[in-house]
Amino acid sequence: MILAEIKSGKPDRHTLDLLGGARQLADAFGEPLGAVLLGSGVREQAQALIAAGADRVLSVDDPLLGDYQNDACLAALQAVVGAHRPQLLLFGHTPVGRDLAPRLAFRLEVGLAPDCVAIEPGQQGACRFVRPVFGGMCSAAYVLSGRPQIATVRPMAMSAREPDPSRRGEVTDVAVALDGGSLRARFVERVKAAAEGVRLEDADVVVSGGRGLGSAESFSYVEELAEVLGGVVGASKAACDEGWISPDRQVGLTGKVVGASLYVAVGISGASQHMAGCSGAKCLIAVNTDAEAPIFKHAHYGVVGDYKKVLPPLIKKLRELKSQ
Ligand SMILES: Cc1cc2nc3c(=O)[nH]c(=O)nc-3n(C[C@H](O)[C@H](O)[C@H](O)COP(=O)(O)OP(=O)(O)OC[C@H]3O[C@@H](n4cnc5c(N)ncnc54)[C@H](O)[C@@H]3O)c2cc1C
Repeated sequence: MILAEIKSGKPDRHTLDLLGGARQLADAFGEPLGAVLLGSGVREQAQALIAAGADRVLSVDDPLLGDYQNDACLAALQAVVGAHRPQLLLFGHTPVGRDLAPRLAFRLEVGLAPDCVAIEPGQQGACRFVRPVFGGMCSAAYVLSGRPQIATVRPMAMSAREPDPSRRGEVTDVAVALDGGSLRARFVERVKAAAEGVRLEDADVVVSGGRGLGSAESFSYVEELAEVLGGVVGASKAACDEGWISPDRQVGLTGKVVGASLYVAVGISGASQHMAGCSGAKCLIAVNTDAEAPIFKHAHYGVVGDYKKVLPPLIKKLRELKSQ
């Protein structure tokens, strides 16, 4: 079973990825895959979850679930999970998943594996949960006792299937009596962050700069490459800490996790904490003066050289190719 999250009137990308990965686990165990849908007026999203791999959608529709309020969601989720007792319950490692999963695990007195990058099916319904530890330097594998086994899954760790709109499944409305008076924390207001362009997490192409750029002004090289590739600009923590670029551009363990098709790392050494945010990229290109820099162990293509010499001809060539 997974917890679905609905954003802007449709299942969000992480939910679709989670369904893709959970489908494989359900098939490995020969079990059906359920999706819990909590919200107000969200029932019509059930078919999108089925198309993405769910066999069954358990929908709890209540005005108290319209905006995320953890007491209300927890009560609804506990009721659904208590009634259906899934073998495995997956959340995205999203703000909602990170908030709800440990509370539910505590209430049910079962184990929790947070921020998993892989979940492997084992014997008799047990899974092996793999997650990075020590800032991404090592991986640890866990087994959990109790039912359900609960885990949160790092964004991009699983991949969505091609949606199949003809897939059929079961949609069950679950009635849960929620008491507005018992909510200890209430939703008050949603304030949208001023966002310009595509979010780093959603970008298909990301060009990131690191300390090797040497100054805030030198980010213009990275910006120009990003612009010609139709991508967005990211950065290492070191570059953000220097104040060369806004901290919301940081990629990595304590920054954003990107799932780009193309990630270009310029003047970035490739510390494990940075790689935690970009290792899911399908193609990684590194530009670095140091041939021994760890980034080259991860890069699909690498250029050993000074970015001031490498980037201008590359940008020129790309512009030429684009204009043809
Ligand atoms: C708990 C914790 C969390 C962290 N979270 C993050 C995180 O989320 N994201 C993150 O990025 N880091 C994070 N870090 C920091 C991380 O460990 C590294 O310190 C950081 O990523 C280094 O950034 P950098 O590669 O830009 O700088 P450096 O490691 O200093 O590397 C600069 C690179 O630029 C190259 N270079 C120099 N001049 C040029 C040139 N002219 N042309 C081309 N290349 C050149 C150098 O050879 C070098 O490899 C975290 C650390 C900790 C302890």
